[in-house]
Amino acid sequence: MTVVLRSPQEFKQWRRQQKGTVGFVPTMGALHTGHEELIKRARKENDVAVLSIFVNPTQFNDPKDFEKYPITWDQDLKMAEDNKVDAIFYPRYPDMYPDNYRYKVTESEYSKLLDGAHRPGHFDGVLSVVMKLFNIVSPTRAYFGEKDFQQMTLLQGMVESFFMNLEIVPVPTVRESDGLAKSSRNVRLSEADRAKAPAIYKAITQSNTADEAARILTEQGFKVDYVTDVGNRRFVAAVLGEVRLIDNVQI
Ligand code: AMP
Repeated sequence: MTVVLRSPQEFKQWRRQQKGTVGFVPTMGALHTGHEELIKRARKENDVAVLSIFVNPTQFNDPKDFEKYPITWDQDLKMAEDNKVDAIFYPRYPDMYPDNYRYKVTESEYSKLLDGAHRPGHFDGVLSVVMKLFNIVSPTRAYFGEKDFQQMTLLQGMVESFFMNLEIVPVPTVRESDGLAKSSRNVRLSEADRAKAPAIYKAITQSNTADEAARILTEQGFKVDYVTDVGNRRFVAAVLGEVRLIDNVQI
């Protein structure tokens, strides 16, 4: 049985009764098979599996994106139950932000590049909410998708910098059969844009350079925020209609 706990106090009380290792999967809901892969890993590798669902307003730089973020609670609960998740932490805004976001966690270098350069404040919101979640859930391991590679790297850095007692486990990106990275935002694509969207993965895997990939996508009608190589990875963010999609691959 999956229990649903709504306040940090309620969750912490439940947590004190758990024994052994705790695997944690933080999400914003609207779960798909990408999230499910993280849940399966957490379930398999730990005694206790915890999922959180919280559409975190402080990480949305675009209010319209926040308002339109899909909510599919019934399906999400079913996925948790089917995968034998022990508990879902499902808080409300005032529970998570009793300080109304006066306190925040900031990284000052890497968080300003790539997505950070195009989404002011985004990674402050992510780092702050995940710090709160980690303090409430006290996981042994926390599972994050490589789909959001910059986010995962910044969280690894946060855990190291603050000597936090847990392990961040990266999980490879789950894709549709046509290559498009699974994302909760994909359902907001029009039929025509959904047909176009796999060009992102194709461009970053098949072009010789980042600039070439950017040019190809621009020619196909994408509004390209960036295609950039950092180390051995190629990162992309591109907008189709009103939907902003990100992806990255090893090169
Ligand atoms: P979100 O609900 O979008 O905030 O994502 C919650 C977690 O699921 C994050 O760690 C994401 O990186 C991960 N995730 C989202 N999409 C995918 C995917 N297609 N493959 C693997 N992990 C994913």
